[in-house]
Amino acid sequence: MLSAEIIAVGSELLTPTKTDTNSLWLTEKLNEIGIEVKLKTVVGDDRARLEETMRDALRRSDIVITTGGLGPTEDDITRPISALAIGRELIYHEELVEDLRIRFRRWGREMPEINKRQAFVIEGAKILPNPNGSAVGMSVAVGDKFFVILPGPPRELKPMFEAHVLPDLKKSAGKIVVRRRILRVSGIGESAVDEAIAPIYKTYGTVETSILFNRSEIEVNLAAKAESETEAEKTLEELAGKIVEQLGIAVFATNGELMEEIIGKFLTESGKTLAVAESCTGGLIAERLTDVSGASAYFMEGATTYSNEAKTRTLDVSGDLIKAHGAVSAEVAEAMAKGMRERAATDYAISVTGIAGPNGGSEEKPVGTVFIGYADESCVKSLKLNLPGDRYLIRWRASQAALDYLRRQILKTQSETAK
Ligand code: ATP
Ligand code: MG
Repeated sequence: MLSAEIIAVGSELLTPTKTDTNSLWLTEKLNEIGIEVKLKTVVGDDRARLEETMRDALRRSDIVITTGGLGPTEDDITRPISALAIGRELIYHEELVEDLRIRFRRWGREMPEINKRQAFVIEGAKILPNPNGSAVGMSVAVGDKFFVILPGPPRELKPMFEAHVLPDLKKSAGKIVVRRRILRVSGIGESAVDEAIAPIYKTYGTVETSILFNRSEIEVNLAAKAESETEAEKTLEELAGKIVEQLGIAVFATNGELMEEIIGKFLTESGKTLAVAESCTGGLIAERLTDVSGASAYFMEGATTYSNEAKTRTLDVSGDLIKAHGAVSAEVAEAMAKGMRERAATDYAISVTGIAGPNGGSEEKPVGTVFIGYADESCVKSLKLNLPGDRYLIRWRASQAALDYLRRQILKTQSETAK
């Protein structure tokens, strides 16, 4: 399998505000034709560092792609430094200048003289036309390596790559393709997941498996290499099936879906409805549910009942109950879910009450104490959690735990009715 390396050029890409998205797009395109990206670098507009990076890249990778720095100004250094790095001359192409002059006139302007710089092309390189901008790209064989130089603006780079680079790469890449799949797992830790599934995925030599911890779940990333898409998909399907068999109900998504999408799918399929009563999550659950298009079919209502008074007025949670157990308690979580379900007349209701911090914790109920309530037509119950993290993470994890609790209840009822 051919290896590729991407070099994103531009000092602005090293600032906190600008992201190198070109390399993400290029990686996707390369993976699709079975080329693996092994390394990427962001280099500022620095001649010495760029030259060194290019030389290193051409030593270790089969394909090196640079993006950016092809403009006409002094800080656009990719063209001369590429020539330097591979020890070739830059050749002046008068026809490119003529072409640029015509295009500038069409835009109603005279071509500034500095744009002549963009007419220099590396000796022996193929010129990649740029219908969307002034800088042409280049591709050139350097020994057995392939060096591609692309402009920075995504709207110039993408069509250039697809029309003039991809066909060449496809030819040399051979027949290997890569297909990816993400499984999401809740309620088990990263190492426990790995321990349980390593014996399974280790028997698949053609699949690269990585396990990542997200803010509230474990992601199992699978990348299968095969000679055809069908074969890669078949391997992924088989391995995913075995992982699900091993981890069971903890796997909530087998195709990269989000928790709220899975809930949406369950509710749509069963024709059931949901309402949500939130305290410490402040509407986050309702927001996540309604992010999914088609949510109006099953999500009926959400209430952010932050104060005790609101819990009583909106959800009919008795003041005495709150006084007796505290607003953050199993009793209140259950009363919130029950009250919400009655008020909204839905099949299900879930609720959250907890302490997101950083203040408000006590010895008995420290920051991160969260109760999830659940109500359906036949039962009301709750779950106590001690969630780690800062305020943002506790709120996010509480929203995830509430949706997961609902998911598990739905699955449980489904399997009971199926019996
Ligand atoms: P120009 O002729 O426009 O100067 P260029 O090839 O010199 O093109 P840059 O000057 O490096 O490219 O970048 C132009 C613009 O393209 C940047 O301001 C940025 O918006 C976008 N851009 C550059 N590199 C990237 C990247 N790696 N990812 C996403 N956007 C990028
Ligand atoms: Mg530029």
